[in-house]
Amino acid sequence: MSRVLVIGAGGVGSVAVHKMAMNPSVFSSIVLASRGKPKCDAIAASVLQRTGVTVETAALDADDIAATTALIQAVKPKMVVNLALPYQDLSIMEACLAAGVHYLDTANYEPRDEARFEYSWQWAYQDRFTAAGLMAVLGCGFDPGATSVFTAYTKKHLLDRIDTLDILDCNGGDTGLPFATNFNPEINIREVTAPSRHWEGGQWVEGPALSQKQSFDFDQVGPRNMYLMYHEELESLVKFYPEIQRIRFWMTFGDSYLKHLDVLQNVGLTRIDPVMFEGREIIPLQFLKALLPEPSSLGPLTRGKTNIGTIATGEKNGGKKSVYINNICDHEAAYAETGNQAVSYTTGVPAMIGAALMITGQWNGAGVYNMEQLDPDPFMDMLNRQGLPWTVHDLDAPLAF
Ligand code: NDP
Repeated sequence: MSRVLVIGAGGVGSVAVHKMAMNPSVFSSIVLASRGKPKCDAIAASVLQRTGVTVETAALDADDIAATTALIQAVKPKMVVNLALPYQDLSIMEACLAAGVHYLDTANYEPRDEARFEYSWQWAYQDRFTAAGLMAVLGCGFDPGATSVFTAYTKKHLLDRIDTLDILDCNGGDTGLPFATNFNPEINIREVTAPSRHWEGGQWVEGPALSQKQSFDFDQVGPRNMYLMYHEELESLVKFYPEIQRIRFWMTFGDSYLKHLDVLQNVGLTRIDPVMFEGREIIPLQFLKALLPEPSSLGPLTRGKTNIGTIATGEKNGGKKSVYINNICDHEAAYAETGNQAVSYTTGVPAMIGAALMITGQWNGAGVYNMEQLDPDPFMDMLNRQGLPWTVHDLDAPLAF
């Protein structure tokens, strides 16, 4: 039984808090803090209505280390679950160290003024978390998160050696809107417009953004075009699984999404450097975010399913083998359960599970951990019981591309 402080009242924070409330034997009390208290209060009202559990709420600017430390000291949680934006990761880690509590997040740190996300900044906290006897778990969403755990599970149970790994992320959901991003638009567009990068033969191979396309027939979604992209879990998988010769990440995009993105880029609306407008500086991408629908407003509109998984090829008992582990999540079912669509659901549920495993001591340790370093079994077990069941398929042949 433990008290938890969740920071960030977006779609992911909403799902995580709803699911925590549904597991009262682990989360004895929940406090939700975010930049704006009204969003926290709206989530608390939904949680109360759906589960009968009262969530306490607070306003917090998590860029402010002193204010975040003070809130943690006042709330006295066992751990902080950071579901704000990647920009806040370091300040919240600092506050956790100052207040002496464990930490978990779903996305690695990214500076505001540079579209560059990498783990180096957070891995630099290794010695301080270790010395403090505290645990920091990084990237506990779906990808990174569940896909990293799928890889660890593959290595533990299914293959003796992994040679190649492909992560396939398909969102077959349709909002009916011409253009919307299914999580924070600023973070989403920075990620999608970055050059592609994958690991092959001991080095990173770079290419222009969205320039390599393959079609794949996703179970319960159908054939979709998916594009080679850089994604943050590649960095830690390369570090912790040096045996894997090639690691790639693929994400599906519809033609309409890509057409809109192309135009927005061409006219400069995805820029993250300041431009002068009517006597004041604005960041075009932040202005664009203000125009686009809030991801949390997409819940009632989204139909269809997500299908996310890993295909690993390697050796088992001396023979070649390919295995595919995936989860399929229905947008409408996710919305019915928590009031949020499947992209928030597939991120918020793993965040809740990671927190539950830390609180119950099934995951413990001092230092900074990526998901693939931890025992996959209790996490995989909880995915099945907490709304994200997965299946393992033996494939007849490795991917042909
Ligand atoms: P949203 O933008 O919907 O929500 C972010 C929340 O954080 C908002 O409530 C926002 O408040 C709050 N916030 C922003 N800045 C601060 C601050 N300085 N102090 C306190 N609160 C702040 O994002 P999502 O819920 O969609 O995503 C949450 C996180 O999950 C992101 O880091 C995202 O990258 C990550 N993610 C990870 C995935 C994975 O699979 N690993 C997949 C999808 C998302 P306000 O409303 O006032 O702006």
